[in-house]
This record gives sequence, C-alpha cells and structure tokens, in this order.
Amino acid sequence: MNIVSGEQIAKTFQVGKEQHPVLLDVSVAINEGEFISIMGPSGCGKSTLLYALSGMDSIDQGQVIFDGMDLTTLSDKELADLRRTKMGFVFQQPTFLKSLNILDNILLPAMRDERKNVRALTERALQIMNKMGIADLAKRDITQVSGGQLQRAGICRALISNPQVIFGDEPTGALNSTSAQEIMDLLTSINREGTTVMLVTHDPKIAARTERILFMSDGAIVNELRLPRFTGADLDDRMVKVVSTMQ
Ligand code: ADP
Ligand code: MG
Repeated sequence: MNIVSGEQIAKTFQVGKEQHPVLLDVSVAINEGEFISIMGPSGCGKSTLLYALSGMDSIDQGQVIFDGMDLTTLSDKELADLRRTKMGFVFQQPTFLKSLNILDNILLPAMRDERKNVRALTERALQIMNKMGIADLAKRDITQVSGGQLQRAGICRALISNPQVIFGDEPTGALNSTSAQEIMDLLTSINREGTTVMLVTHDPKIAARTERILFMSDGAIVNELRLPRFTGADLDDRMVKVVSTMQ
C-alpha cells in the first residue's frame, strides 16, 4: 500500500517578476515500509519535492496523498495535526533551543499535545534515546554534545510521536563520514522496525544505503534504482551502481 504519493506535482517559485518552475509534473508513489532516497544536483528540486510530499510546503498543481488523505484538501490545523502525529522530520542540523537540555528539546514538540502524559512521554523519550545511544546525554546542554550526537537527538525528537514516515532533508549533510554512516545505521534500524524513511541527499554513499533511489534533474524524476537490503558488507558495490545510474 502507498503511504505517500504525489500525482503530477507542479510548483513554481516567483522571485520578483520572474517565475522559476521547480517541480514539473512529478509523480511518485512510496510504499509503506520503504527506505527511499532522492538524489540529484544542488538546486534540482529535491528539498522542494520532500516538502511537498510532507505537506510542509504547498504545491501549485497536482495532488499529494498521505495515508489516504489528500493533503491539498486539509485545513492548516488538520495538516499541522497530521504532520505532528504521523510524520517525523530530520534536517541537516536540528534546531534546538539553547535554553533547554537535550531531553527537554526532544520532548518539546510532543508536549504541545496536552493529552499526553508527561511522565509516560519522558519515559518514552528516554527509551528512544537509549536506542539511539544518547541516553546518558539527557541532561546535557545542547552546546556540550558533538554534531553526530545532536543529530541522534534530532532523530529522537522525530520519533517521539511514533510517526509512520520519517522525512530527512540531508540528515547527514553536516556530519563527517563516520558519523554519517552511524546515523544511517540508526535510520536503517528504524526502517526495519517498520517506519517508512525518505531522505534527500546528494551523497552517493548515503543514497547507497537505501533501497530505492530516485534521481532528479531540473525539477523532474529522471531515473530510479532499486537495491536489495543493505547487508553491511556491500556498500562499495552499491555505490558503484548509484554512481553509474547517476550518469
Ligand atoms: P535542492 O534541494 O535539490 O538543492 P531545492 O528544492 O531547495 O533544491 O530548490 C530548487 C530550486 O528552487 C532552486 O533553484 C532554489 O533556488 C529554488 N527555491 C527553493 N526555495 C525557494 C523559495 N522559497 N523561493 C524561491 N526559490 C526557491
Ligand atoms: Mg535541498
């Protein structure tokens, strides 16, 4: 079953008097449980497509269906609720409040939902932090952890509502190669537990860890590569396939 799909999505940005078409009739369907990435050169529309599919940004034409709902028909509040409860977002660098410790930053978005029980939520956050290898950092200041640890915290925050889909916009983009691969290990394990994961990346070594890669160019999906599950030993072979499909 499709968890999210886009039908002939078109989007144009207007800058001054000029029109910049950024998505040109993009259609894409993502199955529940997929581990998928979008690759392509800078400026080709990867982030714009991710934002369209996650309802973060509006589209000019077409449709986005998430879990059976047409996002273009939802009110702002319905869309915000859907995003908060069913989607998780991970960006290049998490935006955390400097005045709160790691745990409180992770809890912050979920706390907005008054029906949530604070103790149960804190317990859940600590469990997730434990899985992500940062349980001992709960009380730390956000300035006292590494970039990789901060991104683990960002993933914890995205997971707190138990989302159906995690959307990542260059989630490893600010990290060194080792930390980036560690973050991919975590995203892989999250995916194997059933969560759909969709990433944007320009790095073949990151895309090679996923199981379907959409290649974008100038606002369109121009190619696609499917790979079997990553075993841990086949990264180089996978990268060769990604790079040769890119060209
Ligand atoms: P990518 O993620 O592939 O690097 P983006 O989706 O961010 O590309 O951007 C695609 C194009 O749209 C770029 O040319 C970018 O400059 C333009 N763009 C993105 N966001 C805006 C915006 N808010 N206003 C105007 N142009 C934008
Ligand atoms: Mg981008």
